[in-house]
Amino acid sequence: MKDITEPDIINNIPLCCSQPKNWLEELLFIAGPCTVESESQLSLVAEELNASGITHLRAGAFKPLTFPYRNKNMYELREKGLELLAEVRSKHGLKVVSELTENKMIDLYKDCVDIIQIGSRNMYNYELLITAAKTGKPILLKRHFGASLRDWLGAAEYILESGNDKVILCERGIAVPHTHSSTSRFVADIQVIPAAKEITNLPIIFDPSHATFNRDIVAPMTYAAIMAGADGIILETHPDPENAAVDRLNGVTLPECSRIHANVKRLLEADLL
Ligand code: PEP
Ligand code: MN
Repeated sequence: MKDITEPDIINNIPLCCSQPKNWLEELLFIAGPCTVESESQLSLVAEELNASGITHLRAGAFKPLTFPYRNKNMYELREKGLELLAEVRSKHGLKVVSELTENKMIDLYKDCVDIIQIGSRNMYNYELLITAAKTGKPILLKRHFGASLRDWLGAAEYILESGNDKVILCERGIAVPHTHSSTSRFVADIQVIPAAKEITNLPIIFDPSHATFNRDIVAPMTYAAIMAGADGIILETHPDPENAAVDRLNGVTLPECSRIHANVKRLLEADLL
C-alpha cells in the first residue's frame, strides 16, 4: 500500500496511472453483441469480425440491467454463455472480452476470457476490481456514468496497485438531467479523452453504443472519439440488432460494424490532426 495522502491525490500528483507509456501498441477495436444468445449468433459475429480483420469479440454472459425485470426475450446465459465464448474463441481465433459481475465467478473468467470488463455499475466495487486485477489479465475499466475523472482514475489505481498494469479505461457516456428518453439516456463525454490524457498514460477507448443508445449516431460519435485521441473502440454489433435480447436501440448490423472499422482505420491513416 502506498503511503500517500489525500492532498497529493487532489493535486494530481502522478500515481501509478501516470506510468511512462501507453501499453497498447495498436488500435484496440472490440465488437460483438451486448449479450451471448447462442452458439450460432456468436459464430455469425465471429465470422464477420475475422473477415474484417477485427481481433476482439465482446459479449456479456452476466448482464447487470438498469431494471430487475427480465422476460423470455431478455436473458443472460451466465456460465453457459462464458463456455460458448471460450468455444468461439478457440474455433475462430479471436480474443474475448466479457464483463465480470461477481467475485465468485473469477475462475471461470480466468479460463474463458482474455480481457475482463468491469461494467460502469461496478466501477466503484473495489473488491471486484482487485479480484479481477489479481488474474493478471488486462482489465477494461468502464467509467461509471456519474463518476468524475478523479474517481475513475482512483478506481484504476486499485487495479494498478494490486500489481496489474494492464488497465484500459473506457468512456461509455455520462448521465445528465435531460437524458431521460430511451434514445438519449447518456451523453458521450468525448472531452474526457484529452482531459484524461493530460494526467494518465493509460490507454482510453470509447464505447459509442452505450454512450449514445442510438444506433443512428454510433458511427459519427465513433469517428469523433478517434479524432479526440481514443486508443480504441468497443462497439455493439449483432446479426439482427432490432431483435437482440438486450439493447435493441444501439446495436449496429455486422456490415455496418465492418464499415465503421474500415473508416476508423482510414481516419487514422489520413493523419488529419
Ligand atoms: C456493456 O458493455 O455491455 C455494458 C453493460 O456497458 P455499461 O457497463 O457501460 O453499461
Ligand atoms: Mn449493451
